[in-house]
Amino acid sequence: MIRVLSVASEIFPLVKTGGLGDVTGALPLALQRIEGAPPATGHQVQVTTMVPGYPAVMSAAAGAPVVHTFADLFGAPANVLRTNVGGLDLLVLNAPHLYDRAGNPYLGADGKEWTDNGFRFAALGAAAAAVATDTANGLTFDVVHAHDWQAAMAVVYLHFHPGPRPGTVMTVHNLAFQGRYRASLFPRLGLPNAAFSLDGIEYHGDVNFLKGGLSYADRVTTVSPTYAREITGVEDGMGLDGLLRHRAAVLSGILNGIDDKVWNPATDPLIPSRYARGRLAKRAANKVALQQRMGLEENPDAVLVGVISRLTTQKGLDMLVDQLDDLVAEGMQLALLGSGEPDLEHAFVAAAEWHLGSIGCVLGYDEALAHQIQAGSDALLVPSRFEPCGLTQLYALHYGAIPVVCRVGGLADSVIDANEAALTAGVATGIQFWPPTPEALETALSRLMALWRDKPAWEQVQRNGMAADVSWRGPASRYVALYRSLLAERS
Ligand code: ADP
Repeated sequence: MIRVLSVASEIFPLVKTGGLGDVTGALPLALQRIEGAPPATGHQVQVTTMVPGYPAVMSAAAGAPVVHTFADLFGAPANVLRTNVGGLDLLVLNAPHLYDRAGNPYLGADGKEWTDNGFRFAALGAAAAAVATDTANGLTFDVVHAHDWQAAMAVVYLHFHPGPRPGTVMTVHNLAFQGRYRASLFPRLGLPNAAFSLDGIEYHGDVNFLKGGLSYADRVTTVSPTYAREITGVEDGMGLDGLLRHRAAVLSGILNGIDDKVWNPATDPLIPSRYARGRLAKRAANKVALQQRMGLEENPDAVLVGVISRLTTQKGLDMLVDQLDDLVAEGMQLALLGSGEPDLEHAFVAAAEWHLGSIGCVLGYDEALAHQIQAGSDALLVPSRFEPCGLTQLYALHYGAIPVVCRVGGLADSVIDANEAALTAGVATGIQFWPPTPEALETALSRLMALWRDKPAWEQVQRNGMAADVSWRGPASRYVALYRSLLAERS
């Protein structure tokens, strides 16, 4: 059995700000379901996840035993608790001076990053590396798997660990976030000077956590094959494309799956009317309920387009703002749930007031409403300029909301465009557009309307999407193969 220490700053259902939490919460359970081939028994992989002890995590870990202590972890004593929440084996980094803060894991009440985020996430990495290399705590790991910049320092500390160490995997969920800090942080990280170099964590005179992880990891992965290619180019490489080209031999892309226990229209407790591919008539009640909830006219004939997203430039929703008048003129409706850049928030609120009954907008974060939009919308729009994987289009496929996506990253890998050939072959699952411009988006929305008018074709695309395998089964077995190849190479 391969023992993996996953290191992450979010894990669903305890802490989630986006797709990262969904993945770190679902992948361990998916890996657990992969049984050893006969005559072997039991699991092939056992994952334990180290997460920061934010208030929500600490209350879930109440009474859990201490398995590791630190006399001083970036300014105060700390310890590691071991617990299990909903089948997830957790190591909770109990460091109140770093994590006992209300609200968002990364931002203060003023919406700005906590000024000590460098220490907060260096501590996560340092603690993971210490726990994984301590021979006295009864915990042994073959692989340390770091997710995104917040966990990347685990790879860096392990690289400089003097004794034997587990293999390391660095997974990039979004290259746009790198954890970049002034060089003055470096002396406080407790690393040898060699780490602050061109082939280490130094980046244009600063410290860059993700660059360190990408430089030193035994394997680098990202969350779709297309994004794995895109990030080796200047356009999507976010300044790290040179390094990623250098590491191309160990870089791969594994598309995310979805957790069928949380996202399944046949069992979803958060939606008014449960349904399945063979019981699609029951879906209509969700559209009516969503129209009511979002203040939209109760019209079954209007194409209801859903959006569930962070409102940022990455997600391309500024392009949608330009299209709203046309969208309404075409007889479509919009149900948008999101939060983010104030300009975009204001634009959608203003549009909802202007187009009363046709555009509904809820600002904020609402897990239940996200499920209701997937179940009640006819289509789900994801016009991202870049998208490492994207989960909302996978949920949409599963829920029978036709995804309309920009052809980038994981969106390109998960949606089959309803062009003539794909429609004829009966394999289309959605609509893709390119490039990320308002004009291309406009064309995509016109194509959506044309499809809506051709009911048999619409239903075919919807059913194909619902039949698509978006489960974790395939991806989980690819992670097992990755861990195996890494361990074979190190043995
Ligand atoms: P990213 O991680 O870049 O934000 P993904 O598509 O990978 O994008 O994952 C987004 C996840 O966050 C999905 O589970 C989606 O349902 C959820 N989500 C995004 N915005 C909201 C919101 N405002 N309210 C509830 N859930 C949201």
